[in-house]
Amino acid sequence: MTFEAHIPLAPVVAIVGRPNVGKSTLFNRLTGTRAALVSDLPGLTRDRRDGIAEIFGTELRLIDTAGLEEARQGTIADRMRKQTEQAIAAADLVLFVIDARAGVTAADSSFARIARQSGKPVVLVANKAEGRQGTDGVLDAFSLGLGAPIAISAEHGEGIGDLAADIVAALGLKIPKTAKKGRDHDAEPVDDKKLPPERPRPIRVAIVGRPNAGKSTLVNALLGEDRMITGPEPGLTRDSVASELDYKGQSILLFDTAGLRRKAKITETAEKLAASDAVRAIRFAEVVVLLIDAEHPFEHQDLTIGHRVTEEGRALVVAINKWDLIPEKQKTLRDLKKTVAESLAQVPNVPVVAISARSESGLDQLMSAIIKTHATWNRRVSTPQLNRWLEEALSRHAPPAAAGKRIKIRYVTQPSTRPPTFVAFCQRADALPKSYLKYLTNSLREAFDLPGVPIRFSLRKGE
Ligand code: GDP
Ligand code: GDP
Repeated sequence: MTFEAHIPLAPVVAIVGRPNVGKSTLFNRLTGTRAALVSDLPGLTRDRRDGIAEIFGTELRLIDTAGLEEARQGTIADRMRKQTEQAIAAADLVLFVIDARAGVTAADSSFARIARQSGKPVVLVANKAEGRQGTDGVLDAFSLGLGAPIAISAEHGEGIGDLAADIVAALGLKIPKTAKKGRDHDAEPVDDKKLPPERPRPIRVAIVGRPNAGKSTLVNALLGEDRMITGPEPGLTRDSVASELDYKGQSILLFDTAGLRRKAKITETAEKLAASDAVRAIRFAEVVVLLIDAEHPFEHQDLTIGHRVTEEGRALVVAINKWDLIPEKQKTLRDLKKTVAESLAQVPNVPVVAISARSESGLDQLMSAIIKTHATWNRRVSTPQLNRWLEEALSRHAPPAAAGKRIKIRYVTQPSTRPPTFVAFCQRADALPKSYLKYLTNSLREAFDLPGVPIRFSLRKGE
């Protein structure tokens, strides 16, 4: 008897982890509507599910190790262990799932040991990380020794595109040029990261600023004749409006706060309303354009919005509008750039563009700044590059000593983008002064040319 006849050629991917981390939810997310199917793989007990997932047009066979609590013999711990070992043994790739909100538990560590010892390739998945939750848990996950975790939400479908790309890379598969879409299959994992190149996603842009800064005028100038209202996007309320425009082949989805305000029919004061529009717009956007009235620049609300944008981790572009009204253009621009540098010191080199929405000048510079900043925001620096930089930064300016011993920083990696997020592993993370972390952040920003976007840099205790 041969098994080959029954085993599809698709690579086998096992989803493992302790109970309740979301393995079944991830299984369902990846297999979508495809029913569980086909014969058993050799050597596996029955208390797990098989399914087929299609990722960028490639079929994978998934094994879910959830449900093992229902097995009847042995202690739960024994059964879990056995089940996990079997699944890993049958797999070409292991998806090791943890609950990012719960952080790393003793059970996670012991499962991780099994995964490590198997020698199989592992993709470490930090689940339940929707809306940036569970960041600590994501960072903790590094301690499992399974490489950089990928943050996802199986339940909300966030980060699934990234995960799919990592799976494909870990299996050494190529993403086909035209990812075929099964007719009966609507569950192809899709989100806004690392999609196949033939389907670039629009850059989500919001224009925010005080009332009268010229937001509606700018939106109209940008949309021109091709105004095309696309209706509510995920994450927007039902009466929000987004418009899509094409700029030199790059699709831009523009959040129309002005349209929103017209719809709302002004029941609150304009200032208050504009502020809540801004908050919504910032959440939606990848790049936020802070529109400033050149005649009344940088009043309190402008700065509040600017800070908010960087706190939320969005990329920021400052546009100074009504430039047609400014007589001494060069000097004014110099002064305004200085103000931006001083008041938004946490994100050096934010692009500042002078425009006139009414006479439609400076719009090309504005669009280039948006596209460029978006690319920076998405930038990933490789671990070897980071560690070469670290060595240099440490030797230029050594970390201070604490309790008579020099603090050692061993290793830096970038677990995520949007915004660029870095983690340094440090023996005595608590003892390292903030000023030194700031030095590292600035040095990193310069070394890898990351102007105008917030950078997250944190320390983890680690060998
Ligand atoms: P399993 O035991 O590892 O298969 O875990 P399940 O898939 O059964 O999920 C355990 C619990 O976590 C369920 O209540 C799920 O609804 C919940 N869950 C799964 N994925 C997510 C997620 O991405 N976010 C949140 N908040 N909950 C999740
Ligand atoms: P919003 O409240 O931010 O949407 O601002 P509006 O687009 O309604 O513009 C407020 C006022 O500023 C209107 O009277 C516009 O005509 C005027 N405005 C907008 N852009 C410019 C510009 O580039 N130059 C000048 N001179 N006026 C402008």
